[in-house]
Amino acid sequence: MSVVLPGSLVNGQPATLGVMGGGQLGRMFVHAAQAMGYYTAVLDPDPASPAGRVSHHHIQTDYLDEQGLAQLMQRCAAITTEFENVPAPALFTLGAHRFVAPASDAVAIAQDRAAEKAHFVKCGVPVAPHAVIATEAQLAAVPDDLLPGILKTARLGYDGKGQVRVKTRDELVAAWAELQQLPCVLEKMLPLQDECSVIVARSGTGEMVHFSVQRNLHRGGILAVTEVNPGVIEPALAQQAVAATKAIADGLQYVGVLCVEFFVLEGGQLVVNEIAPRPHNSGHYTLDACDQSQFDLQVRTLAGLPLTPPRQHSPAIMLNLLGDLWQENACPPWDKVLALPGTHLHLYGKLSARPGRKMGHLNITGATPEAVRATALQACALLGIEPF
Ligand code: ADP
Ligand code: MG
Repeated sequence: MSVVLPGSLVNGQPATLGVMGGGQLGRMFVHAAQAMGYYTAVLDPDPASPAGRVSHHHIQTDYLDEQGLAQLMQRCAAITTEFENVPAPALFTLGAHRFVAPASDAVAIAQDRAAEKAHFVKCGVPVAPHAVIATEAQLAAVPDDLLPGILKTARLGYDGKGQVRVKTRDELVAAWAELQQLPCVLEKMLPLQDECSVIVARSGTGEMVHFSVQRNLHRGGILAVTEVNPGVIEPALAQQAVAATKAIADGLQYVGVLCVEFFVLEGGQLVVNEIAPRPHNSGHYTLDACDQSQFDLQVRTLAGLPLTPPRQHSPAIMLNLLGDLWQENACPPWDKVLALPGTHLHLYGKLSARPGRKMGHLNITGATPEAVRATALQACALLGIEPF
C-alpha cells in the first residue's frame, strides 16, 4: 500500500479518503479526515445521512450499485467502512482497485457470529459456550447446558436486535421460528459482572497501538455508558483483554481500527463477546479525553501514516444520547448540560428522534474520576437518564 499524504494531489485530484456508510461513525471519520486536510467521499443511499451531510462528496446509491462503487473508486485514494453490515462483496470489488481497510475477508468474519466465534477459538481466546444452529438437526442436538441462553441471528444483528432470550427447549424452538429459522448462534446466558471493550489500530505492516480498556454499561442491549479511567477494570484483566484483542487483530491480518467487546464474569473470568471492524461507540470518549481519537487512528491506518500510541489525558465518561431523550421531539436542555464543567456535546445531525436511536453522545472529562462521575450524574439528572 502507498502512503496518501494529507493535502497532497493524487492523479491531479486532492487526496480523498472514502467511507462506505454514512452513519455517525462515518461522520466522525469525515471530521477527523477533513481536520487533517483530506477531502472525503461517502457512499450511502440516504440523502440525509449524518456523514453524507458533512462530506465533500456524497454518492447516493445502494452499497452494491456498480456505478456508485465506480464513482467512489474514481474519487478516492483509499476506502474504509463505518458499519459492519456493508456487504463484503462491495468491499471486495473496491479492494480489487483501491486500498481498502479493513479488508473484505476480515469484515466478512465480523459479519457472521459463527465465523467470528470460530476465529476466537482459533486465536485461543475464551468464548461463551455456544452452538451454531442452521438446521433442524443442529437444533435438536443442542446440549442442555446451553440453556438458559440467548439465540442470536448469525448475521445483521446490532444493539440487541435479532436476539431472543430462551429458558427452555420449547422456547428455543419457538425463538428459532420467530427468527425465521435463519442461521443462528445459541449462547449460554452468562452471569456478567461487567462488560468492557478494547480498541486497537493495526497498520499494514502489523504495528499496533491501543486505547485503555473501557468499561461499558448496556441497557436493553444498547450501550448506555462508557467509563474509562485507570483501575476501572482490574489491571490483570485489562492486560488479558489487550492481549486477546491483539491476538484477534493479528489473526485477521487486520488493517484499521478494531473493537473487541468482552464480558467479565462473576468470579473475574474474561470471555470475548464480539468484534466490530471499525471504530466503536465505546471509543467515542477518545474524541475529548485522548490526544488522538479512534477516528484519527482510522484515518492514519487508511492513509498509511505512522501510528503512535494514543495517550488519555483525562478520565472520561461517555453517556449515549438516545432518541428517548427527545420527549415529543422537544430539544433536551443542552444549555443547562453545557453549563457543567468538562462536558462535550456531540450530536449526529439526525432530524427525527426515535426511541433507541443513537442521536449523539456526551463526553465528560475532568481532573479526577470522582469529579467526572459527579458531573456525569448531574448530566443524567438534567437529561432524565437513569443514574449508574
Ligand atoms: P449486539 O450485536 O446487539 O451488540 P451482543 O451480542 O453484544 O449483540 O449482545 C448485546 C448485549 O446483550 C451484550 O452487551 C450483553 O449485555 C448482553 N448479552 C449478550 N450475550 C450474552 C450472554 N451470552 N450472556 C449474558 N449477557 C449477554
Ligand atoms: Mg455488542
